[in-house]
Amino acid sequence: MTRSAVPGRAWLSMLSGKLPRAWRWGLLVLLITGCGVLLGIRLLATHQVGRHPLSALRFALGQHDIARQQQQLYQAVTVALREAGLETNAYMREDLQVQRRGRESWVVRRHRLVLPVEVSLQSVETRLTNVLRQVPHSILARRTRQQKTVVSVALTTGIDGAAADIFVLTQTRAIASPMARTAALSPSDAVLQPPLARVAIVIDDMGWDLPMAQALLALNAPLSFAIIPRSPYQYETVEAVQQHGRDILLHLPMEPHGYPRVNPGEQALLSDMTSSELTTRLQVALQELPMAVGVNNHMGSRLTEDSQVMRVVMHELQQRGLFFLDSRTSSHSQAFQVAREMGVRAGQRQVFLDHDGQPEQISHRLHQLLSLARKRGRAIGIGHPRMETLHALQQLIPELHAAGIEIVPVSHLVD
Ligand SMILES: [Zn+2]
Repeated sequence: MTRSAVPGRAWLSMLSGKLPRAWRWGLLVLLITGCGVLLGIRLLATHQVGRHPLSALRFALGQHDIARQQQQLYQAVTVALREAGLETNAYMREDLQVQRRGRESWVVRRHRLVLPVEVSLQSVETRLTNVLRQVPHSILARRTRQQKTVVSVALTTGIDGAAADIFVLTQTRAIASPMARTAALSPSDAVLQPPLARVAIVIDDMGWDLPMAQALLALNAPLSFAIIPRSPYQYETVEAVQQHGRDILLHLPMEPHGYPRVNPGEQALLSDMTSSELTTRLQVALQELPMAVGVNNHMGSRLTEDSQVMRVVMHELQQRGLFFLDSRTSSHSQAFQVAREMGVRAGQRQVFLDHDGQPEQISHRLHQLLSLARKRGRAIGIGHPRMETLHALQQLIPELHAAGIEIVPVSHLVD
């Protein structure tokens, strides 16, 4: 083999030319260091919350020993529950499925805790959270649900981003707080209550701007957040939103009119896909945001007009008990209609708050949303993570509280 036939050497000699030997070595060391730095940056960039940068390697080596860690966790949980004064019959454990990753294999389990009225749900949750601080598990997702007077909190815990246990705390409550009262109202109760206008505000396109997410979360109102799957700050945004206990929606990219000139982003649902392709894309997106309580469309002016495609989407949501919020990017959208037909909980956006970024326009739109809510008892608005929108909301929220209009999570306004 001739010298020039070795591609690496040819390349190096071409690069270094007639440089002295020491320089060549220097250059080589520099190149290797550069590659190392790039690899490091790449690892950090893909680092997800609750997941180690070398997660895959750790699983491949079976470093976590999840099954053993689970036993340790259960012992600690049993002790904590006994201390909380809970009877053992309040605690049920069931195996859900076997998970395998690398050399790790473990059983995902659900733990049901039915709390008597006299025990504070919050204190039990705090005890559980404290237990998790002592073992290598962490909370990956937290979900709350209220149906009539039954309140439940589900904590998904795991190691290194892999779910292992789901603790579901359930309690039947006497109607006490005004918020519980509103959520527990049945339609027949509503006539007995003074009309209380309720407004939900969903902020779309989340996941690209973390400081903005934090500023919106700091507002004194339960806004809802629609997060784009695979956005750069997806995991950090999810974590922040969960800490505030706000609703998370999957903001699902769908084909708009004018596609591909108008780009809905990666992994969008497109009209030329087969049913199984559409389902797979939706499932992958839902896997990215397992804590989402519902889905709304990002763009999608073309796709939502196709009732056949919407049926495929709604079928999957129906299986998972998720709701659909039609962003209404097209006035011919079939999404809401199809969802209703298929028994999927659904809602529609009534007002876009900030299509026009002018502060006075946003404020005008917000007032439009309020008067609609006063008229109909409820209204849903969609805004975007913009400075102008943030400022308008900062001004409006105290006004709302004063006027007796309640901002509620969007999950309260879909049915
Ligand atoms: Zn969007």
